Amino acid sequence: MRLSRYFLPILKETPKEAEIVSHRLMLRAGMIRQQSAGIYSWLPLGHRVLRKIERIVEEEQARAGAIQMLMPTLQSADLWRESGRYDAYGKEMLRITDRHERDMLYGPTNEEMITDIFRSYVRSYKDLPLNLYHIQWKFRDEVRPRFGVMRGREFLMKDAYSFDLTQDQAVESYNRMFVSYLRTYKRMGLTAIPMKAETGPIGGDLSHEFIVLAETGESEVYCHRDFLDKATPGIDTDFDGDLTPIVRDWTSLYAATEDVVDKAEFEASVPEDKRIVARGIEVGQTFYFGTKYSEPMGAKVATAEGTEEPVHMGSYGIGVSRLLGAIIEASHDDAGIIWPIEVAPFHVGLINMRPGDDLTDPVCEDLYARLEASGIEVLYDDTSKSAGAKFASMDLIGLPFQVVAGPRGLKDGLLEVKDRKTGEKEMLTVDATIARLQ
Ligand code: ATP
Ligand code: MG
Ligand code: MG
Ligand code: MG
Repeated sequence: MRLSRYFLPILKETPKEAEIVSHRLMLRAGMIRQQSAGIYSWLPLGHRVLRKIERIVEEEQARAGAIQMLMPTLQSADLWRESGRYDAYGKEMLRITDRHERDMLYGPTNEEMITDIFRSYVRSYKDLPLNLYHIQWKFRDEVRPRFGVMRGREFLMKDAYSFDLTQDQAVESYNRMFVSYLRTYKRMGLTAIPMKAETGPIGGDLSHEFIVLAETGESEVYCHRDFLDKATPGIDTDFDGDLTPIVRDWTSLYAATEDVVDKAEFEASVPEDKRIVARGIEVGQTFYFGTKYSEPMGAKVATAEGTEEPVHMGSYGIGVSRLLGAIIEASHDDAGIIWPIEVAPFHVGLINMRPGDDLTDPVCEDLYARLEASGIEVLYDDTSKSAGAKFASMDLIGLPFQVVAGPRGLKDGLLEVKDRKTGEKEMLTVDATIARLQ
């Protein structure tokens, strides 16, 4: 992408309304624009990161056997009356009336709708296990939308729903999502700790919140320090095999949020020098809730014995749009964002120090074409802004690598390659630069 033809509205001023660093940096880097309280437009740079996060989520959901689909944002109130949640959900639900005076709502979650889909098509235990998911915008009329995309009113969520014949099989489905979550967050450069959690309006009795430690997090959490250097399940994890050992390993150390913490148990089970009492960001939550929806909504399957049983269900959310904020909270410095490579909007920022110059132009054009051809995404700054402004913008938007093409270095055929994270700089030939960035 040539910066001269891109849309990257960088702000010089630090927006006053932004209280935390990720919100400030997302606004300054031209990633989002607030349209009304807690509702954002995703500008091109922000949208690219959002898509990268979605793609990681999709890959890891597929690995764990979940099947992607798409349900609408608007739902009929009648479905929610069947489960009894229409009245229970309260003011967080945005209620809408259509022209025929029918009660609708903007979905805050999809348990009812997926249960309706399931009961319409699935009749036999032979079709189980089944796990269906989508990535769709949700609306929750939060009392205090704040911190940018961290607590929006409209936000993007991945929500998966599992269906099994028995509780034991449902726990196996739960474990598949649990393990896939560990991998998903790790690929984004995050350490998310699964913590015992309250189940809230979703209901049920087995649940974990996946929490990223951060000072600006909204919940207080209590956990064992050894979580921080636990090895994440690898790409060779067999999701058809028994995942119990992994789940046991990741749940054997104490970890709980303030809602459910038992301080005596925390202190008894974690040695003092291993105790972490900190704040954290909830980036996802998993629930097993048995027949809470299948029972009232009549989602049953035939068993091998010829009887009919309500299915055991679970649901599994990931805060896709919240993750941008969480990643930035975890990875930035005074100059701006530092993107982990897997979610970076572009891999490399190429700075032409003197556009129009006989030396820099052809080298930049050649490098740009060759990098793009090898699948490396380049943001090519071909504008005539000052060197200082170009460097500051590149640091702010946080691409993992910067390549600077200036007349001085190029006299000796050399480019400067800077690692955004470490700040290390190397002078390399064009070929060596390409090799370095592979
Ligand atoms: P919170 O405790 O932060 O209000 P929640 O427990 O109500 O979140 P869930 O119903 O568990 O949320 O939804 C699944 C995921 O969706 C959450 O773990 C979180 O990452 C994300 N999420 C929930 N509410 C918001 C919001 N208002 N803005 C952005 N992401 C959100
Ligand atoms: Mg909430
Ligand atoms: Mg919560
Ligand atoms: Mg939750």
